[in-house]
Amino acid sequence: MTEQIARLAQQAGNDRLRLLAVSKVHSIDKIRDLYAVGHNYFGENYVQELAEKAEACADLPLRWSFIGHLQSNKIKTLVRYASDIQTLASMKHAHLIEKAAITYSKTPFPVYVACNPEDEPGKNGLSCHDVLPFVASLKTQCPHLRLMGLMSIPPRKYQDSLQEVPELYRALRKLANQVGEGRLSLGMSGDLKIAIKAGSNLVRIGSSIFGTRPQKARQP
Ligand SMILES: *Cc1c(COP(=O)(O)O)cnc(C)c1O
Repeated sequence: MTEQIARLAQQAGNDRLRLLAVSKVHSIDKIRDLYAVGHNYFGENYVQELAEKAEACADLPLRWSFIGHLQSNKIKTLVRYASDIQTLASMKHAHLIEKAAITYSKTPFPVYVACNPEDEPGKNGLSCHDVLPFVASLKTQCPHLRLMGLMSIPPRKYQDSLQEVPELYRALRKLANQVGEGRLSLGMSGDLKIAIKAGSNLVRIGSSIFGTRPQKARQP
């Protein structure tokens, strides 16, 4: 998988691309296996699961990225174990992340602003037009956050079977340039190629690495 990604990135002239291995629902053994072949950056969607895995792998130098739904009462635990949070979309959560980052001496704490570009129900993130005003507020009110860039999960209809890079993907690339350090977290197993062509800096890949996920009920 890493080889395939490296090849796609080279073909697209994209020289700032990293891989986040999305290990949600998958076992600690699988995480250890991937670490053994040189990967140390893992993504999780559930705070409790992230914390348990981080504890269980405390002997390894792993970095945990949170890509799930944020809940105020879990932010402190999350900041304790995660190395970044990619689903920031409210000032209330931003302030809580700051507070926890200070508590755990993890400032400035890396965050990505989440964008839900076609306002799909049930998905994390701000509308595109709300992103820059939100970024302006973060800059003035949250000096203890490190604003990495933009994270997005576009609608499912955008898949690698498309011939062209969708206009939406280009728009997200441009928007990300104006968010903090300008990184774009875009692309999952199904839209990896078009995301890399559009200039993603971080692809979040689960099923193509670990296999399909067993079904798990959403946490309340
Ligand atoms: C689960 C998940 C992924 C990985 O999805 P795959 O289709 O398995 O590659 C990426 N990003 C987010 C936000 C996710 O929740």
